[in-house]
Amino acid sequence: MKIFTAYLCHETNSFSPLPTNLDSFRELGIFRPGMDPEASDSPLKVAGAFYEEAKRRGDEVVVGLCAHAQPSRPTRTVDYETLRDWLLDDLRRAGDDIDMVLLMMHGAMMSEECEDCEGDTLARVREIVGPDIPVGLLLDLHCNISEAMLHHATVVKACKEYPHTDFTDRAQELYDLCARTARGEIRPVAGFRRVPMFGLFQTAREPMRGFIDDLLAQEGNDGVLSFTLAHGFPWADCPFAGAGVIAYTDGDPGRANALALDTARRFFELRERGQAHLDGIDACLDRALAAPPGTVVMADMSDNPGGGAGSDATFILRRLLQRGTEDALVAYLWDPAAVEMAFAAGEGAVLPLRIGGKVGPGSGDPLDLEVAVRALKRHAHQPHIADNAPTALGRTALVETQGVQVVLNDIRQQPFHPAGLVECGAEPWSRRLVVVKSSHHFYNGFHSRAVEIIHCDAPGTLNSDISRLPYRAITRPVWPLDEIDAEQAFAGSDTRPATVGAG
Ligand SMILES: [Zn+2]
Repeated sequence: MKIFTAYLCHETNSFSPLPTNLDSFRELGIFRPGMDPEASDSPLKVAGAFYEEAKRRGDEVVVGLCAHAQPSRPTRTVDYETLRDWLLDDLRRAGDDIDMVLLMMHGAMMSEECEDCEGDTLARVREIVGPDIPVGLLLDLHCNISEAMLHHATVVKACKEYPHTDFTDRAQELYDLCARTARGEIRPVAGFRRVPMFGLFQTAREPMRGFIDDLLAQEGNDGVLSFTLAHGFPWADCPFAGAGVIAYTDGDPGRANALALDTARRFFELRERGQAHLDGIDACLDRALAAPPGTVVMADMSDNPGGGAGSDATFILRRLLQRGTEDALVAYLWDPAAVEMAFAAGEGAVLPLRIGGKVGPGSGDPLDLEVAVRALKRHAHQPHIADNAPTALGRTALVETQGVQVVLNDIRQQPFHPAGLVECGAEPWSRRLVVVKSSHHFYNGFHSRAVEIIHCDAPGTLNSDISRLPYRAITRPVWPLDEIDAEQAFAGSDTRPATVGAG
């Protein structure tokens, strides 16, 4: 078989102050045909899983555009269309003997003029390959499922784990489903049910763990081909924002719809219990300081660059200093100007430094501090959560004031793994408290050595009180903005008619 694969990802936060353009994608590396997909620094990202699976099966594989940017505002129209058209050109040039197309996109990408970049790209891919070639779409679970995605893809599948540690497994499953469809062995038909809720559902703990395990156990049995729980992305302001369930069966649309509805009801039942309890800054600091000896890891969820926040909020740092909390470490605080000044002063220098609070109101006010520069690094990296590939943190400066250390950097990135902090010169496990600007992706890297993990709901861009957001386009009612019960959530019979792309 001959496979075409490509990767175009952006999680769009309509309310982020950070603009998105072609340079935002270039910052994290762009792969184009003609480059060596096996070079150690090839930015294939998840398309690498499709590439490896093709090689393992002895299939011919063409890798097209691979590009992604850190979450931020809708992409500038001309730049989205440029990236999309590169992908489409790569597909056309791959030849007309392609047997299937496997794409990885985020599922919540918007440009200034297009609220559904995945659906838009998929429609054009379908136009090129025609109705009979299987097109598989792999998504991040923080996706908002659109009609166009379901209609134009043969199979849509999202990762199941949050943190997202299972992209390789899901990529292999999607590959297999599309390959069997291409050979005429199965005929995937989708049932879809929207779940009118927003939330952040962590799958490592109950009750989500058991729910996910049950869905995994059903897949592959008795004609059930695939389940996807779309958790939704509440910060993408579009009419189809929110959770959803996609079930695929082998040629049985009625059963696919019934499975989607049943699973959607179960998911909605977990809307409160499936999420971590969140407290504000002081309650979290009290809890951290009362923990047993060792290192407590506290997540500044509201300033997670992985959700479109500036990563330069000062709310927690300010409280740490006001409370005289020594022996703490904060990472990574994105402040290119402060990094520049720390480099200009040099390692060992003591200087007045204005830190953070620059990107927008969600960042709070800057802090004027006298800091000692403990360590500087020009090209720091950390292992990526999905594939352990080295992920750039940019230039980093470890600075210290009043016993509190801060890792400043100039590429917005959340901490995935303590090895990144160590590379920046910090010693996370010798600190009492490590504050990470991350919602949950830090978890797998940190939880085994932390005495306690605390998720903090500080003020900031991604604060859990989404009722303050100036939504214009979302569909109401939606929980928790509207108090609805299961009966209201699933009233009527709007379970989507089974939608089939190719196959
Ligand atoms: Zn995600």
